[in-house]
Amino acid sequence: MIKWADVIRFTNKGNPTPDKRVEKSEEEWKQILTPEEFQVTRLKGTERSFSSELCSLFDPGIYACKCCGTILFDANEKFESGTGWPSFTQPLKENAIAYHADKSYGMIRVEVVCNTCDAHLGHVFPDGPEPSGLRYCINAVSLNKIKE
Ligand SMILES: [Zn+2]
Repeated sequence: MIKWADVIRFTNKGNPTPDKRVEKSEEEWKQILTPEEFQVTRLKGTERSFSSELCSLFDPGIYACKCCGTILFDANEKFESGTGWPSFTQPLKENAIAYHADKSYGMIRVEVVCNTCDAHLGHVFPDGPEPSGLRYCINAVSLNKIKE
């Protein structure tokens, strides 16, 4: 299980190696993503809070990266954070997600990206539910829900 100390270690010392890499040009991503998906995933945008029905959806299933299809989260780890963004307390696999320091907007936060294709997903915070204590705050447009 990943805890905040691991998040800090990955952010400062380097991320786990992904199973594979997917790399495309900006033009190639534009062709397969909607403008909003492109804005959020490739240009590190943020969707409006409470803009997606995914926030209050708690059916079983798996959430994959919108860009490359890599499996990122299990619905079992999803919880109601009240923030208006889908929130998870743990990724499905330790090496599915990469962590980067984000010093934009005068804050120091930890950005989370898809470790396979570098899609911006959102941020992770140390105020989630136990036992991990983590809250992955994720843009719904960065995710695809897959039925099991
Ligand atoms: Zn991806």
